[in-house]
Amino acid sequence: MVITIHRGTHQIGGIATEIRSGNTRIIIDMGNELSLDPNFVPADLNIPGVTDGNGACNAVFFTHYHGDHVGQMIRIRDDVPLYAGALAKDVMLEVAKKRNDDALLEKFQKIQTFKDGKEIQIGDIRIMPYSIDHSACDSYTFLIEANGKRLLYTGDFRTHGFRGKALPKIWRKVGRVDALVTEGTTLSRSNAVPAMSERDLQQKVRQYLRDYKYVFVLCASTNLERICALSKAVPRGKYFLCDAYQKRLLDLLTHHWSEYSELYRNLKVVEYGDNIQKKIEARGGLMVVRANRKFEEIIKKFDSGKSIILYSMWSGYLTKPESKIPEFLKLTGQWEKLHTSGHASHEAIKELIEITKPDVVIPMHSEKPEVLKELCPDTKILLPDDGEEVSL
Ligand SMILES: [Zn+2]
Ligand SMILES: [Zn+2]
Repeated sequence: MVITIHRGTHQIGGIATEIRSGNTRIIIDMGNELSLDPNFVPADLNIPGVTDGNGACNAVFFTHYHGDHVGQMIRIRDDVPLYAGALAKDVMLEVAKKRNDDALLEKFQKIQTFKDGKEIQIGDIRIMPYSIDHSACDSYTFLIEANGKRLLYTGDFRTHGFRGKALPKIWRKVGRVDALVTEGTTLSRSNAVPAMSERDLQQKVRQYLRDYKYVFVLCASTNLERICALSKAVPRGKYFLCDAYQKRLLDLLTHHWSEYSELYRNLKVVEYGDNIQKKIEARGGLMVVRANRKFEEIIKKFDSGKSIILYSMWSGYLTKPESKIPEFLKLTGQWEKLHTSGHASHEAIKELIEITKPDVVIPMHSEKPEVLKELCPDTKILLPDDGEEVSL
């Protein structure tokens, strides 16, 4: 088995990894690079046989729908089969429709879907997808087996979300692996303050709903598990509101996942409309918003002295040059940050390594992958460059 990380060995996002064994070659993720520069144009990722005709590629698997993992999908040759989770596919289709992007819509429609715990055989390679916890719902870790070798490829993950406790159980089920490719987003960040759990975040929202009549939460529309938790935090008699687009995304989650947890079913979602303005003013509640003109107009209709905006996204977007968010946050009398990371803490990565006991670990999706050497001094950590082959 040969592993080649085409992009993402020393950066967060823009991910693409190749796994080759015998006559089979698969790619995991094809993402756009992230940047806070408003004039940034994502660099095209060229992989022979994937984005051009110089070779063959048997399939591309996607761990989840974040742009830093799927943004380059459109550039994959049309005859290469694509695979993703069923809910992830539906969310991507909804996003493409909203953008009126017909080419993207057509590409997403071709995606074949896999299921948690159902193995897929592609030529010489077996891929077992495990549904895991991340800030994008329907995210997967892959156990990849070929030629007698076992590789665990984590994708983006964490253990402090609603489904986080399931991860160590999955790792135990996987058992010992020959190699581990793990995300290492937080390696470049301080680990001094433990990550707040999604459950604690939900508790804090309950308190805000007691302190303020109107709570507006600025949150990524695809952070669906958090939005479900916000909905469940709203007490009887108050509204949980969003727009039609957000409601369609929540309906998809309920459609695919309602059987798995109470969190995903019986959401009391009301689509905002002028016709119910008076009722909302009377009862109060929580609304999920995005930083645009439409929501600006809605927020202005409410008594700013009784309103708060909760900023529930990565703080980097706040300082992004030309960002509209700081102005948006001033719409009410007050705003506060209320967010927790979608990525694995140092402890979570250590626990993963302790359980799966890999012979070698390759950190990726990280600006400082070398920090893992300090964290796990007794483990063999490899730090390849982009495009460098690692043979097992
Ligand atoms: Zn990512
Ligand atoms: Zn992600």
